[in-house]
Amino acid sequence: MPILNADLHCHSVVSDGTLEPEVLAARAAANGVELWALTDHDEIGGQLRAAEAARSYGMKYLTGTEISVTFAGETVHIVGLGFDAGDPQMLRGLEQTRGGRGPRAHEIAAGLAQVGIKDAYQGALRYVGNPELISRTHFARFLVESGVCRDTSEVFRRYLTEGKPGYVPHRWASLKHAVAWISDAGGMAVIAHPARYKFTANEEYALFTEFKAHGGRGVEVVTGSHSAAEALRYGEAAREYGLAASRGSDFHSPDESHTDLGQLPYLPGTLTPVWELLADRIQ
Ligand code: AMP
Ligand code: MN
Ligand code: MN
Ligand code: MN
Repeated sequence: MPILNADLHCHSVVSDGTLEPEVLAARAAANGVELWALTDHDEIGGQLRAAEAARSYGMKYLTGTEISVTFAGETVHIVGLGFDAGDPQMLRGLEQTRGGRGPRAHEIAAGLAQVGIKDAYQGALRYVGNPELISRTHFARFLVESGVCRDTSEVFRRYLTEGKPGYVPHRWASLKHAVAWISDAGGMAVIAHPARYKFTANEEYALFTEFKAHGGRGVEVVTGSHSAAEALRYGEAAREYGLAASRGSDFHSPDESHTDLGQLPYLPGTLTPVWELLADRIQ
């Protein structure tokens, strides 16, 4: 049933969102979400709280995470849905992936110091809810609050993307490992917001075919990161590659996110929704 208000992508203070899992659940329920997943970056520490809160609001729930992967020199995000949140291989893999974030944050701060922005590491830490999960988003919030930029997208444009002073090339998990952690734990791996990557046609083809070969089964089609045209394009890609389609707002914060929980177009009826293949994983 594609006509379901499912929101299978969002972030809490356990990664780089600004709301607690329970507050997100309340907001999702108020917006009419029927099936929800909290997908914090490289972290599943909020899953029990999210699942319990979902139950209390009468929403169905799928476990979730969004794993940072390096593929063809770019960072790609792989969403995991419906896995066993106690799976030891998954827990170890995510812990390893998070492990790179501390040293990287110090390097980001060093880059910013070179252009005169002092104490950015301590500054970013003030916005961090989970000490293991310091992200560029926390630096962006610090730079906005301290008046360096007007909003977080300006910070990314001027300071935190490739070629800019606070950009640090970083090696995340491999595609193969991320898909295996999710699949071996009984879940489904989903390519997050495919239109966001700056791939050539060949690189994108490689991403989709290798993802499938490793056991990946889904792709985000309707997301807060896609325009209507991009949703159409990746709906086509889902059919071409034989992948199920997912839907999620990628909501981070009421002040920063333009797409609110559950407030996005339904999936086209011609696609197989991920929740049809995950029926036995829904809580
Ligand atoms: P990190 O995992 O530390 O590299 O941070 C990536 C996060 O930064 C993403 O998950 C988004 O939440 C945020 N982000 C990336 N690009 C932008 C942008 N252009 N504007 C605002 N936020 C962004
Ligand atoms: Mn994020
Ligand atoms: Mn993402
Ligand atoms: Mn996300």
